[in-house]
Amino acid sequence: MSCDSFPPPRGPVVVIGAGTMGHGIAHVSAAAGFETRLFDVDAGARAHGLALVEANLDRGVELGKVEPAARNAALELLSETGDLAEAAAGAELVIEAVPEDLDLKRRVLAEFAAHVGPEAILGSNTSSLSITRIGEGVPGPERLVGLHFFNPVHIMSLVEVVRGDRTAERVVERARTFVESLDKEPIVVNDSPGFASSRLGVAIGLEAIRMLESGVASAHDIDRAMELGYRHPMGPLRLTDLVGLDVRLRIARYLHAELGERFRPPGLLERMVEEGKLGRKTGQGFYSW
Ligand code: NAD
Repeated sequence: MSCDSFPPPRGPVVVIGAGTMGHGIAHVSAAAGFETRLFDVDAGARAHGLALVEANLDRGVELGKVEPAARNAALELLSETGDLAEAAAGAELVIEAVPEDLDLKRRVLAEFAAHVGPEAILGSNTSSLSITRIGEGVPGPERLVGLHFFNPVHIMSLVEVVRGDRTAERVVERARTFVESLDKEPIVVNDSPGFASSRLGVAIGLEAIRMLESGVASAHDIDRAMELGYRHPMGPLRLTDLVGLDVRLRIARYLHAELGERFRPPGLLERMVEEGKLGRKTGQGFYSW
């Protein structure tokens, strides 16, 4: 299928939520040449988001990865606003990156849906919620698609394009070409718990914890098995320490409820979280930090 039949948006891109993910999505959108508006209800978050984009572009220039002219062009294309009508005017793509709350996501997307044209695409950066369920609260659910970016957005090249039960195929294809125009690699996943990335990553992480629990090998050696044997840049236990054991436990409980026994959280993980051993952020996890 050629990109020409499914052009990416040409008009403005709106990012809702200027936090960890939102500022990064706005960064890569502006850097790819899209007029980009960063919308947030919190003026401080908007200012902080823009400052982070500027700092990351400056760092790119310092490292010789971004041309000074490209930095300036990206910043010129990027603006912030707390005015919904102003943000939405003429927008062709709206991507929400507000906190992980079903009702909140439905509400902000429904508000924007009422202000943009019928051809505009609505994207959600949810990391775990069902796109189909979010779409149940949004007028025109056929134009809603998951656009799951990874943190830090300006560095990580993967984006999961998530097809809800009612997402139109044309919308999936346009979302895919948009991701390609950001110089990132899209994978298309049908709406299902954990999509592709979390489901596989958590499966390996939980199995590694069960192996440690039953004395198969040390944490270091289990990690080396994946690092050297499978070329993972980092072993599953070290990665769990970086993500946070509490975060991993929450996702495991959700996948256990949705997908069954193979995602049951191991006792060791439950105990470590109870003891406050949450990984790097508390100084102790499978490793001492
Ligand atoms: P965050 O808390 O850093 O930022 C959320 C922003 O949304 C805040 O600036 C807040 O002011 C704003 N906001 C809240 N209500 C709003 C509203 N009604 N309208 C406009 N803005 C509003 O959150 P985050 O970590 O960037 O996560 C955002 C989404 O991305 C979540 O769905 C999360 O699951 C997903 N996600 C996060 C990561 C990650 O590593 N942090 C990775 C992938 C996906």
